[in-house]
Amino acid sequence: MNVNQLMGDLEKRHPGESEYLQAVKEVLESIEEVYNQHPEYEAARIVERIVEPDRVFTFKVTWIDDAGVPQVNIGYRVQFNSAIGPYKGGLRFHKAVNPSMLKFLGFEQTFKNALTTLPMGGAKGGSDFDPTGKSNAEIMRFCQAFMLELWHNIGVDTDVPAGDVGVGGREIGFMNGMYQKLARQYHTGVLTGKGETWGGSILRPEATGYGALYFVEYMLRRAGKDIKGKTVVVSGFGNVAWGAAQKATELGAKVIGVSGPDGVVLIPDGMTTEMIDYLPVLRSSNQNIVEPFAKKFPGTTFTAGKKAWSIKCDIALPCAFQNELNGDDAAELLKNGTWCCAEVSNMGCTPEAIHAFQKAGILFAPGKAVNAGGVATSGLEMTQNCMHISWAGQEVDEKLHFIMESIHEACVKFGTGKDGKIDYVKGANIAGFMKVAQAMLEQGTI
Ligand code: GLU
Repeated sequence: MNVNQLMGDLEKRHPGESEYLQAVKEVLESIEEVYNQHPEYEAARIVERIVEPDRVFTFKVTWIDDAGVPQVNIGYRVQFNSAIGPYKGGLRFHKAVNPSMLKFLGFEQTFKNALTTLPMGGAKGGSDFDPTGKSNAEIMRFCQAFMLELWHNIGVDTDVPAGDVGVGGREIGFMNGMYQKLARQYHTGVLTGKGETWGGSILRPEATGYGALYFVEYMLRRAGKDIKGKTVVVSGFGNVAWGAAQKATELGAKVIGVSGPDGVVLIPDGMTTEMIDYLPVLRSSNQNIVEPFAKKFPGTTFTAGKKAWSIKCDIALPCAFQNELNGDDAAELLKNGTWCCAEVSNMGCTPEAIHAFQKAGILFAPGKAVNAGGVATSGLEMTQNCMHISWAGQEVDEKLHFIMESIHEACVKFGTGKDGKIDYVKGANIAGFMKVAQAMLEQGTI
């Protein structure tokens, strides 16, 4: 395999799709050495086939706003790879959504899902619909209009969407209701992230953040460290940041910072239960600003225009968006003594930031390993739906622990260098890639 040539060919075919090209490059660079030891992969042109999505659906979504004015958005579903199971992955509603973003997310999802130990292929979808400032009724009408197109292409054994940025339990509810009406199919397993009374798994809302902290715990334990008493900063204040803050606090860490697109809030004494509970309230207000947090809780301070990474902390947890932590941010964190960074968002760090962390030798782990607990618990939700049962929270939590531990072990197995140091990026990429590549090889050229 020649990474430069492959990237050149891909760029010609997908010009300007920067996030997608960035995600592919990171994976190819880390698997190159192992790949070249497998002539059978080269002969089957696995790498050329694995980087292209199986298919991309694009559709118009027309809906009526509260003023009675018709609005038009674009909807997408990228079915990336089904070698190890039905397509699986979230839907993102955000004004910046475009084919490049969804292809990068679908590509990452393919390897992340492979790491979970569960049989799920990779997909992603969404729309450039911006939920900021929208009423509940507008959200409902948009979700229904979106499903009016999408329902043809999804199903319990074909493609199972879930939430992502801008899509939580409320949106999944509106989409599931519309799906059932259109398809006249009442299986509970067509979407995951459902409410507990209509097929949702206990702990699915918390799972991404909880799983991330379990992964951090395994990583710290291996490095002879303990999370108790350490300072943690999270970016964002959505579902992922909420679960991460909750579990970090429960494990004895102090969450001293949270951020939004408008700025950062410093919480000198660490988050209290009341503060953690306020995060979903703030998120569902649809304003997409974090400043009200500081207004509500005396003793905390809001700084406009600053990022979470300006706060001095032991552990940095990007929980918001891709490329939210760049080379300058990494330099600032390192200067302030941060010694662990775990991506809870998908591709939360730029290549420059990852390089800076790795060069400094601090603990760093990538999103496809750290945040896999979310989709893994979606997989557990699918299992419960197919068995027509609900597991107790303890059972789901035990399974989540087991899955995060196996992902950590896979990273250690494939990422330990000759010097004994663990490169979690390499480990996660190789472990995920090898599983999908082998499955593709065994199923022939299709
Ligand atoms: N959007 C989440 C992710 O990035 C969850 C996907 C799912 O549950 O299917 O993994």
